[in-house]
Amino acid sequence: KPASSNNFIKTIMTEDLQSGKVKTVVTRFPPEPNGYLHIGHAKSISLNFELASEFGGRTNLRFDDTNPVKEDVEFVNAIKEDVEWLGFKWDGLFFASDYFGEMYNRALLLINKGKAYVDDLTADQIRETRGTLTKPGEESPFRNRTIEENLALFERMRAGEFGNGEKVLRAKIDMSSPNINMRDPVIYRIMHTHHHNTGDTWCIYPMYAFAHPLEDAIEGVTHSICTLEFEDQRPFYDWVVRESEMPSVPHQYEFSKLRLTDTMMGKRYLKLMVQEGIVDGWDDPRMPTLSGVRRRGYTPEAIRALCRETGVSKNQGTVDFGYLEHFVREDLKLKAPRTMAVIDPLKVVITNYPEGQVEQLDAENNSENPEMGHRQIPFSREIYIEREDFMETPPPKYHRLYPGNEVRLKHAYFIKCEEVVKDEAGNVIELRCTYDPETKSGSGFTGRKVKGTIHWVEATQAVPTEFRLFEPLFPDKAQDEGAVEESDAADEAVQEETETAGTVDRTFLNKLNPNSLKVLKGFVEPNMKDAKAQDKFQFFRHGYFNVDSRFAAKGELVFNRIVSLKSSFEL
Ligand code: ATP
Ligand code: MG
Ligand code: MG
Repeated sequence: KPASSNNFIKTIMTEDLQSGKVKTVVTRFPPEPNGYLHIGHAKSISLNFELASEFGGRTNLRFDDTNPVKEDVEFVNAIKEDVEWLGFKWDGLFFASDYFGEMYNRALLLINKGKAYVDDLTADQIRETRGTLTKPGEESPFRNRTIEENLALFERMRAGEFGNGEKVLRAKIDMSSPNINMRDPVIYRIMHTHHHNTGDTWCIYPMYAFAHPLEDAIEGVTHSICTLEFEDQRPFYDWVVRESEMPSVPHQYEFSKLRLTDTMMGKRYLKLMVQEGIVDGWDDPRMPTLSGVRRRGYTPEAIRALCRETGVSKNQGTVDFGYLEHFVREDLKLKAPRTMAVIDPLKVVITNYPEGQVEQLDAENNSENPEMGHRQIPFSREIYIEREDFMETPPPKYHRLYPGNEVRLKHAYFIKCEEVVKDEAGNVIELRCTYDPETKSGSGFTGRKVKGTIHWVEATQAVPTEFRLFEPLFPDKAQDEGAVEESDAADEAVQEETETAGTVDRTFLNKLNPNSLKVLKGFVEPNMKDAKAQDKFQFFRHGYFNVDSRFAAKGELVFNRIVSLKSSFEL
């Protein structure tokens, strides 16, 4: 297993172990179960798991399920499946909601120390009085309630005596702090909502910024790795751990998110597309979700290679999507059998081949990997070729079929186009060709050369199938680079406070590519009828394809194109 290259977090861990600041490295991956994981999450997963394992430490999978409004057990299960698929094994599996009792007690401790108070201001009033970068915040008129009054009110909040939003618990820090996050942030809110794990036990829920440091401390996490948008939260993170008197002291380290060209990864936007049926579920092969890229045919090896090779830094850059495709091709090159598929068929009759005769031809399964062996493919008087491999009036340098020209059929014979058959509208519907028995592949024939080799499948035994070709849902050329993502990241913490009803800015849908899915009907070789869900092949000239698992479950054979063969990406 290749070790990760050096990065600043690894350096910190090395130093912390050497100085004795920590005895073991403990990390966690803390998804909120409010959606499916995407490629960006894979970056965070790889980092947490691989670093801890390099230092012989531990990594927990912890569901950060403190907001019952958006969370669901469907997401919990999907996340577990995705982490396992990537090839990681968690040491502990935890739910932040299991710590609600402990969090409540820590909140009581803060109140008792005069470090937290119950506020009656509305969410809007709190936002307005928090000030701006240039304007200090204003203290709430409820800020100086006595400890007794706060304890009594907080207890009544917990007992369900108030409606949603009527009161909150706020940390009492500094309304004029230059860091707005330190201006008395809300740490508990009232939400009369059923929770997927704790049921109706609670009607007050801790805010993410308060809960997260406590979760880390409770689990003995040493290095709490998160993305850059939480950098401004770090002082509050440290405040919570200190003032709550947690015996174990975790530290937060931030790195920049993985962004990919042509890819929009904000969870709330992906969710909207699923809910509105714009895509075929979270695992639609066009989605950047791990379940989507899995159904498309990407391999965990390729995704882990991308995560490893893109490094860890604090500089926000965008990685070319072609880099991921490069790792996919690299991974499949020697693993995927190479067979022939015709995705836009044109019938060819070989007029001098005996009627009724079928012969078996020998074909190697992977010219770069002899260990994959050989297979037999049938050949007869009727075959299908690719419509684009014939032109009636070819441009210069066109070496495929045209009237009078001879080409090589891959693994078979030379054929020559003798006649073009058209329908009444003038469309080419069939070619009539002759073949030369002398030119059989593997026979050592050197009599003459042809410039073009084309692929084909024998017509009577060909398996009819569907091919699905994809383009990005949100190509960069159609959007101002990362504009959607930018607002997503910046608003993260604020969103949590305001977005309980799930209002999402829909303007991103204007950038949706109308041509992201192309469905074609064609043929594959007869032996492909045994192909199973998630089997991967290289189809001669067309690229790598994966057997779609959803259709396979219904007994239908559909191939998703994973990636084409050609790459515009240069290392
Ligand atoms: P999104 O931004 O897509 O809505 P999120 O950050 O809200 O995702 P969480 O479930 O809260 O989703 O994230 C779990 C972990 O994954 C967090 O530590 C988060 O920082 C990390 N993460 C999310 N997106 C990326 C990314 N693009 N690159 C690296 N890490 C990421
Ligand atoms: Mg989140
Ligand atoms: Mg987010």
